[in-house]
Amino acid sequence: MIDYHLHLWEHPRKATEITLETLSKYCERAQSFGITQIAITEHFHRFVQSRSWLGDFWNRFDDINLYSSMKSYFDHHATYDLEDYIEVATQAKELGLPIVVGLEMDYYKEEMSQLNEKLSQYPFDVILGSVHWIKNWRFDDLDDPLSFNNWDSKNLESVWDEYALHMEELSESKTCDVLAHPDLIKVANKIPKDAGLIREFNSRIVDSAKKYDLAAEVSSAGFRKPVNEQYPSLDLLELFVKNNIPITTASDAHRLEDIGSRFEDIKLLINSLNIKQLAIFHKRQRSIIQVNQ
Ligand SMILES: [Zn+2]
Ligand SMILES: [Zn+2]
Repeated sequence: MIDYHLHLWEHPRKATEITLETLSKYCERAQSFGITQIAITEHFHRFVQSRSWLGDFWNRFDDINLYSSMKSYFDHHATYDLEDYIEVATQAKELGLPIVVGLEMDYYKEEMSQLNEKLSQYPFDVILGSVHWIKNWRFDDLDDPLSFNNWDSKNLESVWDEYALHMEELSESKTCDVLAHPDLIKVANKIPKDAGLIREFNSRIVDSAKKYDLAAEVSSAGFRKPVNEQYPSLDLLELFVKNNIPITTASDAHRLEDIGSRFEDIKLLINSLNIKQLAIFHKRQRSIIQVNQ
């Protein structure tokens, strides 16, 4: 197994210095669960470069109530230097730790081509593509009352449609290699009842992965959220498999203790779908390993 989605800092915490010791502990913990390779994939918005490259992008959207919330979120989060992060992770890899150097990238409307150009100058092994916010609304920030309450003022069907559109545009941008938590929009367990709408949503996500040759992640993080199931749903995962989309496995841990969390369930799930291979990445080139390797 692999755990291809790991963070170094929990969200309420400010970034602290990354050390080889921390990375070595991450590997030890992973190996104790039989995980043979991990990807360190910190959020792009943890880095000062996100501020200098994007500016106050949230002010370009209509919902002015969310401007100050986004500003404080970025003020709090975007404090570490991307180059220092890459340097330590690369050192760990060179010392022989089973690590690949990654990043979790969000979708920023009209900014993806400049971001793609800038990011391609760094030696990443893998970049995850994620949608955590729709325009300037952090729909998955369930601990933030303003963001959470915003769900009540939204039309559920439109929210799912906008999320799918963001995922399509993110895929098209070629900024990323793997679609992370592909149906994150279900995080708050607010799911449209219309089965036809869900089917259409699922095919849009799978078509994006297929068209732009992306892998998709099976993540246990959803078990720690109100939706209480893995990302993607069983139906969406089956559709990925049917369309031969390469798969990675991930815990999306934000602390040591969550590495490999609920991997027994993920393993049962992928076995039940007869998934025998997983995708791994080196310098953004994909290759395949056997599940038990
Ligand atoms: Zn994420
Ligand atoms: Zn993540």
